Amino acid sequence: MLRLGGVTVRFGTSEGQPALDAVDLDVAPHEIVCVLGPSGSGKSTLLRVVAGLQQADAGRVLLAGRDQSQVPTHRRGVGLMFQDHQLFPQRDVAGNVAFGLRMRGSSRAEQERTVAELLELVGLPGAQRRAVASLSGGEQQRVALARALAPRPRLLMLDEPLGQLDRGLRERLVVELRRLFRELGTTVLAVTHDQGEAFALADRVVVMQNGRIAQTGTPLEVWQRPATEFVARFLGFDN
Ligand code: ATP
Ligand code: MG
Repeated sequence: MLRLGGVTVRFGTSEGQPALDAVDLDVAPHEIVCVLGPSGSGKSTLLRVVAGLQQADAGRVLLAGRDQSQVPTHRRGVGLMFQDHQLFPQRDVAGNVAFGLRMRGSSRAEQERTVAELLELVGLPGAQRRAVASLSGGEQQRVALARALAPRPRLLMLDEPLGQLDRGLRERLVVELRRLFRELGTTVLAVTHDQGEAFALADRVVVMQNGRIAQTGTPLEVWQRPATEFVARFLGFDN
């Protein structure tokens, strides 16, 4: 589904550590991959490159086998959800969820049907006409998720999707999300710095360090056999 080969991103001068340093990564169709790593390790930059919001200085991004270097963001078929979910406050819930559908020119009836289905899926049935400002943080998060899912992206990318929520809500939502992605067959690349969240959500985790992939494997593999001392320490082992 997604293949990164030698992707490098430098900000500013060519000296010093690149934000992404020759990153290779494959994500299979329907796979849920979580990117873990400390602040500044390049997680958001990775998503932005795949989305086409950040130009790579070297390397290739392939989606379904096609080089994306000349493909603008809105033609990549990817859905994006950022930590500060950036809902449109002046629009109601339905207006937010239908945003990507309107852009695609779906009919009004189609839009209404899709919005109703998605609100059901994220556990907010009947919330179409509610004002965004009247929703709790967790509810807004679900609306943002429904909006990202609405155009049926072949690849859904989530940057700290549950970042602003309290632990209890996060733990519940992670379980719901995993079930939802499975149900829809969505391929997911999600960033988090919460290890528990990654381990609960992911088929595979990618641990980043200074713009490089320090380890990739199933949550169990990474947990049982951290590849480097950095990974072990990051996961909270003392070694
Ligand atoms: P966090 O967990 O804090 O969100 P991250 O892993 O997402 O961190 P990135 O945002 O990808 O990290 O940043 C990687 C590196 O690139 C950091 O050193 C950051 O300062 C730098 N960087 C990111 N965006 C820019 C930019 N627009 N201009 C200059 N430097 C940037
Ligand atoms: Mg980030």
